[in-house]
Amino acid sequence: MSAEASSPPESLEAKSPFELRVNQSAGAEESFVKRSIDTGDVGFLHSFTTGSAVDGPGIRVVAWTAGCNWRCRYCHNPDTWTVTNGVAVPLERAVEELRKYRRGLNVMSGGLTISGGEPLLQDRFTVRLCAAAKAMGVHTAIETNGYLGDRLSDADLDQIDLVLLGLKSWGDRHRDLTGKDIGPTLDFARRLAARKRPVWVRFVLVPGLTDDQVIVGPIAEFAARLGNVQRVEVLPFHQMGRYKWEKLGLDYTLEGTKAPSNELHEATCQAFRAAGLEAY
Ligand code: SF4
Repeated sequence: MSAEASSPPESLEAKSPFELRVNQSAGAEESFVKRSIDTGDVGFLHSFTTGSAVDGPGIRVVAWTAGCNWRCRYCHNPDTWTVTNGVAVPLERAVEELRKYRRGLNVMSGGLTISGGEPLLQDRFTVRLCAAAKAMGVHTAIETNGYLGDRLSDADLDQIDLVLLGLKSWGDRHRDLTGKDIGPTLDFARRLAARKRPVWVRFVLVPGLTDDQVIVGPIAEFAARLGNVQRVEVLPFHQMGRYKWEKLGLDYTLEGTKAPSNELHEATCQAFRAAGLEAY
């Protein structure tokens, strides 16, 4: 691998996912990147973080993958949009890293979460890392926008104990927010429901962008009908990723947008609860 990409650093751990990391595999040959993605022998990771209490149940190790097929206007990690911004990490190295934490994760009722970026852009690596985690008795979760869910076979889905599924907007406004249609995400959600796979819905609450009842209402109804949604997490928008947009020379459209008030957050949670869902 050394001839094709630089070796991964000694520590994969970032101080936080908000650390800006770019061009970590900029010199990698295209054929190496393609082969890695096709086989999952190597993953491209923005970073690993440990001790997360907000990315699934218990305390989690989180592998942040690089590469995303969406362009959400509120994305707080646009440095994860490009695969080669991630460092090339052989699967065995990632498994070895996880092994260090496995006892602690079990004691703290936690596990591994693979987030991003969009982990299903690197679906083979994601599934193989989840399978390795399960083989060592570690709970597995992925955080995904669901658009590429049909890349996963039913056997692949069995390696994932929990899906943290982003439902970000509704109807035409979904494309305006993310650049993509919502259809494939909803299809994936229905398939997870049919297979009774546990799901936590993640919804980012942005005043003036996603707080409208014409968005929250249909998402709540859809999620409630699925029958496998264990909770909805209403995540308040924040400006912590703004500096990344500026540093990367990207056009950020939410400069003037404030974080939602506690009252708006609570009212949105109530709208989900009214549909029969648990919401926080
Ligand atoms: S799906 Fe996630 S990583 Fe991709 S652009 Fe949207 S918020 Fe960012």
